[in-house]
Amino acid sequence: MPNRCGACRQFGHNRTRCPHDAATARSLREEFNGAQREDAQRRYRELQGRQAILDERARAIQSSNAEFRMSMYSQVVDMQRRLEALTGNGPSVPPPRTGPTVREVKIQEILFDRCQEIPEGLYKELMDALVIRG
Ligand SMILES: [Zn+2]
Repeated sequence: MPNRCGACRQFGHNRTRCPHDAATARSLREEFNGAQREDAQRRYRELQGRQAILDERARAIQSSNAEFRMSMYSQVVDMQRRLEALTGNGPSVPPPRTGPTVREVKIQEILFDRCQEIPEGLYKELMDALVIRG
């Protein structure tokens, strides 16, 4: 890179060979410095823009990490709960009530077997009562 003149900041000569008078040299120098400043400002804005994009990307990565961790965490908690239920450690998870209990089935069997000995109205009432869900 060729050296610039120390007085006017132009290429092709040095301060001792500067063809410009002091006033011209100063205005050329100020023009050059202004251009340098604008250049620096433009580069600074570019960097800021690039930094903003990087920040945005980092935020996106972090929030998706947080979502990923939350989903992993809930899966782990669920697995632990199932494991504890299987091994008998921790609170037991009651199975969902779908069908009649063993006791209900037993009573229904007794009523069915002995239905001849029970008035028909009472038999029906008892059977209905056994299938009521609380
Ligand atoms: Zn010069």
